[in-house]
Amino acid sequence: MENTQNIIQRLNFTYCPKCSSQNLISRGNKAISCKDCDYILYQNNAAAVAVFIRQEDKIVLTRRARDPQKGMLDTPGGFVDPFESLEEALHREIKEELNLQLTEVKYLTSAPNIYHYRGVTYLTTDCFFTARAIDFNQIKAADDVCDYILIKPADINPELVAFESVRSVLKQNLL
Ligand SMILES: [Zn+2]
Repeated sequence: MENTQNIIQRLNFTYCPKCSSQNLISRGNKAISCKDCDYILYQNNAAAVAVFIRQEDKIVLTRRARDPQKGMLDTPGGFVDPFESLEEALHREIKEELNLQLTEVKYLTSAPNIYHYRGVTYLTTDCFFTARAIDFNQIKAADDVCDYILIKPADINPELVAFESVRSVLKQNLL
């Protein structure tokens, strides 16, 4: 995966947040520093979680209610909040988006992703899990999700999938 923007473009910064100088320089791909004061900002990858919820021989994919990639298919999940574990974030997101409680949660794999949102580009580490729902009949799309589908992994058209990280995991036939 390639991101051709430098970090100043990615973060969409014009001025140093500390001294307002425009003398910002990128330090490799990971940090911005200011030439006129001691300010330095590292942008480490954002942690995100996603899950393939199994229901018989199918999995649940969601339809994104908002940009980026509004209307495209996605795995349910989202960003990890401050002070949360991956597992806590996963259970919270799935309750918010699908009103489901997960069981048999197992780590599957991870993949990098690029997420553009309102002029800022976030580089993420997407952590994928598999799970089942305790009571699948409780499913109800909400929050960042406007709909869901049940589909066999082999039947998924990658062109309808929102993000490269999800496409790359599907391509590995891990499910
Ligand atoms: Zn400065």
